Amino acid sequence: MDQTSGTSQGLWGRWRAMMLWKQIFIALGAGIVIGVILNQTGNEAAATAIKPVGTIFINAIKMLIVPLIFVSLVTGMTSMHDMTKMGRIGLKTVALYLGTTAVAITIGLALGVIFQPGAGLDMTASAAAEAQEAPTLVETITGLVPTNPIAASADGNVLQIIVFAIFFGLAINLSGEKGRPVRDFFEALSEVIYKLTAIIIAFAPYGVFALMVWVAGTYGLDLLLPLGTVIGAVYLGCAIHALLVYGGLVKFGAGLNPVRFFQGVLEPQMVAFTSTSSSGTLPVTMTAVQKNLGASKGVSSFVLPLGATINMDGTALYQGVCALFVAQAFGVDLGMGDYITIILTATLASIGTAGVPGAGLIMLSLVLTSVGLPLEGVAIIAGIDRILDMARTALNVTGDSAVTVVVAKSEGELDVEAYDTPHVMDAPKLSEAIS
Ligand code: ASP
Repeated sequence: MDQTSGTSQGLWGRWRAMMLWKQIFIALGAGIVIGVILNQTGNEAAATAIKPVGTIFINAIKMLIVPLIFVSLVTGMTSMHDMTKMGRIGLKTVALYLGTTAVAITIGLALGVIFQPGAGLDMTASAAAEAQEAPTLVETITGLVPTNPIAASADGNVLQIIVFAIFFGLAINLSGEKGRPVRDFFEALSEVIYKLTAIIIAFAPYGVFALMVWVAGTYGLDLLLPLGTVIGAVYLGCAIHALLVYGGLVKFGAGLNPVRFFQGVLEPQMVAFTSTSSSGTLPVTMTAVQKNLGASKGVSSFVLPLGATINMDGTALYQGVCALFVAQAFGVDLGMGDYITIILTATLASIGTAGVPGAGLIMLSLVLTSVGLPLEGVAIIAGIDRILDMARTALNVTGDSAVTVVVAKSEGELDVEAYDTPHVMDAPKLSEAIS
């Protein structure tokens, strides 16, 4: 008996020590297997019985949305308080970052329409989560400005919260020294909110397991194919965006050889792919962009950290694919106004997305909420999120690097000779950069 409890403690200990993404992955696999078995043996009721555990997880994510988006956007804005000093460079950078992000999400939406990853799933959402009637374009635009920010928060109106947060952050910056205590307060608050996010994300394996058992128990094997399609669409989208948008930007925006660009960003891409954190990859990106691609220290040390914070093309593209997956799976028709809302929300939300593993998944719930899509979809995506995070983070750092190269070139701050000389970062430099 002692031995048995020793073994189970050992298993529990190993489970606890396991990295979160592995736990989620195992939870997903176990949930699918158990759900399919329950489905095949006619025990759908048992699969439904476990669903409340997943519902608690979804509720906890919902609980985070308003404070997370507001606080992280305000701190995102206040961290850009030097922008006036940076003037032209700042404007160019932000315009390129937001422009490429909008293109990325459009590619994601297009792939979602072409691949139809959620088609035929025929899921039903809880009544409260059903989509509301789509607003018109004019209604969407006029509705961006909240008449009452508290009401916007209570209603979970994401776009209005984003707009209010941007103005609020700007006002803090403009208030200078007098506004400083508010800025410090929001910085501290953002730490608390990130901790809260980490606590809730730690619960993800159990929520994912319960929801996968329920989903696979209810829908059987029909679910597997669509998830594979989501992965394929996101990876394809990332490749298209990198080659066409960044390749084009480097070639036509800066008159440089795109092949050299892709050679030069290989290391940060690999670190991003495995670490799934663009903030964590920043030292490597910085070293590669300066040493391999010849961008000046001045430009790259402003443009890259800003990019690691506000530029998330891979994340936006993924949100486009996933939003359509959820809409198709739950049979919700999206209109033109919804697509525009998704593009706007994902572009603006990318400013507030932290460059840490899994942040895009939380932001996905914002995007879904903005067009009234059911949040059950987030939990389904959560099971494969690590695989998607790898590709989107690699694209995120590639985008930061491409914009840095283009801005540096336009400012005469790029050493073209260094750019054209193929040389790969050597091992000691790389490890120095990471440490
Ligand atoms: N992991 C991504 C990054 O660090 C953010 C995300 O989850 O999409 O860039």
